[in-house]
Parts: sequence; structure tokens; C-alpha cells
Amino acid sequence: MSSNCVDAKEDYVNKFMKNKTRLIHLISRNSHHFAFWKIILIGVICCLFSAGCDTSPTGRRQLTLLPDEQVNAIGEQSFIALKRKGEIETNPRLNAYVDCVAGAIIEVLSEGPSQWEVAVFRDSSVNAFALPGGKIGINTGLLEVATNQHQLAAVIGHEVGHVLANHSNERLSQEFAVDILLSLIYMFFADESNISDDIAIAALGLGAQFGVLLPFSRTHESESDVIGLELMAQAGFDPRQSVSLWRNMERASQRQPLEFMSTHPSHDTRIEDLNAQMDQANRLFESARAQGRRPSCD
Ligand SMILES: [Zn+2]
Repeated sequence: MSSNCVDAKEDYVNKFMKNKTRLIHLISRNSHHFAFWKIILIGVICCLFSAGCDTSPTGRRQLTLLPDEQVNAIGEQSFIALKRKGEIETNPRLNAYVDCVAGAIIEVLSEGPSQWEVAVFRDSSVNAFALPGGKIGINTGLLEVATNQHQLAAVIGHEVGHVLANHSNERLSQEFAVDILLSLIYMFFADESNISDDIAIAALGLGAQFGVLLPFSRTHESESDVIGLELMAQAGFDPRQSVSLWRNMERASQRQPLEFMSTHPSHDTRIEDLNAQMDQANRLFESARAQGRRPSCD
């Protein structure tokens, strides 16, 4: 992304935040002028959507309003807080294993943060994450489900995929955009109809949740699966093991609901999508092996 684009967005977001309260007052005073209100609403929608000038690694258009530096700082802060709150696993063998797998994935990255930090949390819940700014967290509970280096590579590849594709920025931008739009639409409903405030908010809130945010979130998960599969194969891990991993994950989630699975696509869709990419992933895997990328972390 060009620095002009970053500057323009930073400027835009700062100005918008500063003017948000003023804007809402202005609209509430003028909400009886329907034409005025409509122009404002269309203007805001146009501004929001033209400000996001990014394309994801799979070629999808993205709304990314926040400057990368700001999103990375949020990731770094969250990582410090998580490390302070959680218990860090000190077992050197486990740490060396996770570092080895994560290191092999990080080595094939051509973009994203230049420095990555990996932490293993002593936590029995099956979870893993990667944050903007290059932070990776793996719970010891995940190692019970991702039972070999290839399966762990599938998880780390998927999580790193979220970072490479700027999903946090997109998610924050969507929430920001929905928040602004809801405020505006609420003004309109509050004046023009007899529905109670609570019902209006609930209807709009739910509409936004299921109509805008949730499907995007599934899009993110599927996109990260595609990126993760490529990354693990390029690093010399067997991509077919990603299917075994999600089967293990499905089995574990039948015993107890997994937070990790809550926003993910349905099991069958995921396996189908992975298999559809498998020929290409196998070619990447073979060429990585031929180039001597044969990680041996187990
Ligand atoms: Zn995910």
C-alpha cells in the first residue's frame, strides 16, 4: 500500500472521529429534512467505501480504514496483555517444537511484519492466534489436537494468513463503518416511525450482525485456510495433513464446544474447500521438498 494511501486514511479516520458527535447532532437537528439526511447518508457510505484501497492476497477488495501502524500497535499491546494475564509454558522441548514449526512458516513469508514473536501458553483450551504486528500464540491444549508438526503448521499457517490478509484492520473498519451507519439510520427511525428505541436498536443491531459482519467473518476464515494451506506447503509441511487436523478439531469440538471453531466455516465446507486446493498445494509441497525444505520439528 502506498504511503499516500496510509496518510490519507489516517487523516480521514482522525477527522471522522473528531466530527462524529458533531455530525450526529447536525443530523438529529435536520432529520425532518429527508433529502438532506439522504445526501449525508450516501456521502458517508461513499467516503467509507472509497477510503479502503486494499486488495487481499487472494484478490478480494477490502475496506481497510485504519493505518497499518495503528492496527499493529493494537496487536502488540494485546499480546503484552495476554502474556501478562496468561501462564507462559516454560518447557524447553515444547517451546523448541513450536518455534521450529512457526520458524519454518515465517521463513517463507515475503510480506508481513519483519519480526515475529511466538509464545506458548500453558492453557488446556484448544486455541491459537496470530496478531497484527507479528505475534503468534499457541495454547498447550492445541497440541493435543494438532498431533504432529504438519497439523501444527496448518494451524499456524491459517493464523498467519489472518495477519497477512489484514483481517483485523478489515474487521475493525467494518465495525467502525457499521457503527456510524447505525447511528445515522437510528436517527432516521427515531424521528420517522413509532417503533420504540429499543426495538429499533435491536433490529438494526441484529441486522448488522447477521447481514454484514458474520458473513465477512466466514469469508476471512476461508481466505485464511487458502493462505495457510499455501504457506504450510511452501515451508515443506504435508498439506494433506490440514484435512486430518480439521477432522481432529471436529472430533474434539463434539466433546466440548471450541472457541476456535465458533466462527469457522462448517466442517464439510472447509474440507471440501481444502481438497479443491490440494493439487496446487501438493505441487508447492513437492517443489519445497526438492529445494531442501524438509522441516523436522517432531
Ligand atoms: Zn481463523
